[in-house]
Amino acid sequence: MTQPAGPGKAAVIARAGLQQLLDALGAAGYEVLGPAVRDGAIVYDRIAKVDELPAGWTDRQDAGRYRLERRGDQALFGFVVGPQSWKRFLHPPVETLWSTRQEGERMEVTAPQPDATRYAFVGVRACEIRAIAIQDQVFCGGPFPDVGYAARRHNAFIVAVNCGEAGGTCFCVSMGSGPQATAGFDLALTELLDDAGHRFLVEAGSAAGTAMLQGIDRRAATDADLAAARAAVARAAGQMGRTMDTDGIRELLQRNAEHPRWDQVAERCLSCGNCTMVCPTCFCTTVEDHSDLAGTSAERVRKWDSCFTLEHSYLHGGSVRQSTRSRYRQWITHKLSSWFDQFGSSGCVGCGRCITWCPVGIDITEEAAALRTAAAAPNRGQDGTP
Ligand code: SF4
Ligand code: SF4
Repeated sequence: MTQPAGPGKAAVIARAGLQQLLDALGAAGYEVLGPAVRDGAIVYDRIAKVDELPAGWTDRQDAGRYRLERRGDQALFGFVVGPQSWKRFLHPPVETLWSTRQEGERMEVTAPQPDATRYAFVGVRACEIRAIAIQDQVFCGGPFPDVGYAARRHNAFIVAVNCGEAGGTCFCVSMGSGPQATAGFDLALTELLDDAGHRFLVEAGSAAGTAMLQGIDRRAATDADLAAARAAVARAAGQMGRTMDTDGIRELLQRNAEHPRWDQVAERCLSCGNCTMVCPTCFCTTVEDHSDLAGTSAERVRKWDSCFTLEHSYLHGGSVRQSTRSRYRQWITHKLSSWFDQFGSSGCVGCGRCITWCPVGIDITEEAAALRTAAAAPNRGQDGTP
């Protein structure tokens, strides 16, 4: 039996229906990307078959620690987020801005064609949808939108997956970004695995999502299905591995630019930049010019950069942020404070990646809490100094 499922109307599909969805996305011309196990981690890659999803795998995460483990069931989305985010597709690590070629006396300059790739992202978590919305603001919110990002984003089809479990470094509840996707998707799935069987509650969030569901075998959701989906999300919300007190956090960071905590974190921080590479909202780039040995062709490429490098703050003769102390302070202050001034929101969605993938286990929630605790101590001034 099939039922129309428009926005707000929930239906239920089986594993076979999920395969039909992948097939329909492929037939509609989308490059379908989803989670897959590669080299001991769950990353986002091209998928065509439900069998390629990480069935029966989960991830165990803590500060500086990530391990895949077997689950006791065959859940397809029984993990949280891995080292990659969807940023690598919408805002690729390397992108050619222009190229030039000498033809005799003529120099020809070519700008790349707008990227016509149509991505379908399958398995986008609520925190990642929020991160995409933040990058939308960064790349398209001003008077000069990023042409490549805008094209890829415009063409993207998003299949969200609501979290039924939280990871050890997750804190999306604190940041108001999860664990349930409430907007910004074309379709949203909640995986249900109980006595009633393995199935997915599916809700359409756009006309494109509603259209994509046509022709996919489904039934109307029952009250029991809806209750099971609510319980799954509530379970995840109650399992957050981390929390962050965000009350007045913008001002807290602003008041404590000279706090001694920055020296303590700098003793551990390697300035490796891992936290910025895995973060789904970090967007800094640099440009490099390359030429061939004959000097007849050249190109300018834009590459991901990190505020943890000395070169990132280089200005005519020296770097502004010479110390690790100043670079860590810059990163966390931008994320949790000056991002509000720049873009009107927090720059952190609570995905926990920077905690998991920091080789020395520096934890953004721990650093923010320590700053708050020390700044509130009675024998310290408002800037935290004794
Ligand atoms: S700062 Fe850390 S927790 Fe926040 S969005 Fe970036 S990687 Fe995720
Ligand atoms: S906080 Fe951790 S991940 Fe970030 S630069 Fe320092 S050592 Fe690297």
